[in-house]
Amino acid sequence: METRQFKAESKRLLEMMIHSIYTHKEIFLRELISNASDAIDKLYFKSLTDDSVGLNKDDFAITLHADKDARTLTISDNGIGMTEEELENNLGTIANSGSFKFKSENKLEEDNQIIGQFGVGFYSAFMVAKKVTVISRAYGSEKAYRWESEGTEGYTITEDTRETAGTTVILELLDDTDDEKYSEFLEQYRLKTLVKKYSDYIRFPINMDMRHSRPLEQSEEDKKAGKAPEYEDYYEKETLNSMTPLWKKNKNEITEEEYKHFYTEKFYDYNEPLKYTHVKNEGMPSYNALLYIPSKAPYDYYSKEYEKGLQLYSNGVLIMDKCADLLPDYFSFVKGLVDSEDLSLNISREMLQHDRQLKSIAKSIEKTINSELKKMLKNEREKYEDFWKAFGVQMKYGIYSGFGANREKLQDLLMFTSSAEGKLVTLEEYVSRMKEEQKYIYYASGESFERIKQLPQTEILLEKGYEILCLTDGIDEFVVKSMNAYKEKEFRNISADDTEVESTEKQEEIKAKEEENSDMLQKLTDALDGKVTKVILSKRLKTHPVCLSTEGDITMEMEKVLNSMPTDEKIHAKRVLEINPEHDIFSKLKAISDSGDSEKLSKYAKILYTQALLIEGVSIENPAEFSNLVCELM
Ligand code: ADP
Repeated sequence: METRQFKAESKRLLEMMIHSIYTHKEIFLRELISNASDAIDKLYFKSLTDDSVGLNKDDFAITLHADKDARTLTISDNGIGMTEEELENNLGTIANSGSFKFKSENKLEEDNQIIGQFGVGFYSAFMVAKKVTVISRAYGSEKAYRWESEGTEGYTITEDTRETAGTTVILELLDDTDDEKYSEFLEQYRLKTLVKKYSDYIRFPINMDMRHSRPLEQSEEDKKAGKAPEYEDYYEKETLNSMTPLWKKNKNEITEEEYKHFYTEKFYDYNEPLKYTHVKNEGMPSYNALLYIPSKAPYDYYSKEYEKGLQLYSNGVLIMDKCADLLPDYFSFVKGLVDSEDLSLNISREMLQHDRQLKSIAKSIEKTINSELKKMLKNEREKYEDFWKAFGVQMKYGIYSGFGANREKLQDLLMFTSSAEGKLVTLEEYVSRMKEEQKYIYYASGESFERIKQLPQTEILLEKGYEILCLTDGIDEFVVKSMNAYKEKEFRNISADDTEVESTEKQEEIKAKEEENSDMLQKLTDALDGKVTKVILSKRLKTHPVCLSTEGDITMEMEKVLNSMPTDEKIHAKRVLEINPEHDIFSKLKAISDSGDSEKLSKYAKILYTQALLIEGVSIENPAEFSNLVCELM
């Protein structure tokens, strides 16, 4: 018998499979089942127009059989089969299947990546088998052939018999090692699990004779004597796959329960999803998708461990568990799957990244998520707020990390707590409620809404009936800065030196007062010894004596966030101490200054500055000194 040689490329692929340390060797089953299903598809298609095929849709099936004694796993189908020539061409020259390309010399890691979750076809059988036998009879042919190979040494093709058209693949499994227990692929429950996992939606039944056992009938005496019954094994054909994927059914045939159940089962979430949508895109690209928004963020969501992605199916066959390219980072919370007939099963991971189909699917999915979120915001406000609390931060990162590039897409999905009743508002709502003369979108940063409310700077704005957005997340102010404006309204921190809330006359008046007291203000500044860039008279304080504001881009809150990051460089906001000229403390300061007691004035400066820090929620530099000073003056 002549041993034939594999083509060079095939040999390499084969070697890769044989020496694979790939951890998901189990995918071989998916590959063989997919091939069987394709072969059945071809004959089924023929049967639609050709009565002589003599088979109905229900007659087609894939059969699994595990034989523990012989250590073989058999996968057979009654599909189109292969002629001798096809066996030679298809199984001797796998690299012809087109999707497979080598990049470099035999690097194991890369090999693993290639094997990845993507189809590498028939040869994957060699990851688990020492010998592979294929007996095939092509439809329309009387003859059957046997293809046999034990790996890279080559293969033989001999004549054989087979009752009907179709293909039988027999795997003689590798011996178990300490690391790999190949005999697991002889366990019926393991096989069943694998079929469920990878091939549940193959259109044709995948049958297996499942072994069960039952007690034998006992005699009355034995029963009375309480003897344990004996058991016998029996086999029952079971269809392992559910065949029709939920997402391929018509929407009106699926209940809400089914959608939700599917989610909790498939994505291991105890909680029902907050929202789901079922997309059926008939046009280009054509795909079905089920998209879910979880009701709670997974415990690892905001950690490096979390992996975003949607399951990717090619016509019902799982090709990737978490396809990251299908989701932008800011929608990384979405769970679900995409099934497209336009994607080839045998596509390598790196090719997939550049796949045009996949890109346009991703785009379309992003649009869908975006519009679903907008719909939820509009029609199911409470739900949306729950969603926002769970995943809002992620979308804010989306705006910030894109340096505003994603602004247009995301800005209308943002929410902030407003000073008005402490409720969440959108920017659109804020802007629509702005007072006529109000120039800016005002915001304040702080730990909590309650804390922000107590900031002295808020008083004048609230009195004017302006709303203030309360930014309580570390990222918030960076988001607002990277957006710069919304609907042409710029954002302004209420602690900035240019909030422009006071009338020009008032501003002039204070300016004059400042000039009058420039001496005293300079002395106060000097007393604070570089802690502030200047001390000024405030235009915005109403009843409070002092507050801190900042000059330039870095605000107090940003200073806090930036300095909490693990870098050595410390960043300082340019602080300005504002004193309320209408407050009693101002006349007091004046009196001290006039009396020439510069030591006392300097103590007052320190106390007022520290008070301003406390109000801002910034930790004070020298609490003991502050406490002593207060006692001294008391
Ligand atoms: P691919 O499926 O990407 O073409 P494979 O390596 O899995 O690559 O298979 C190579 C070829 O062998 C298939 O294209 C098909 O023509 C043929 N083939 C494999 N399995 C079967 C089968 N069970 N029945 C008929 N043809 C098969």
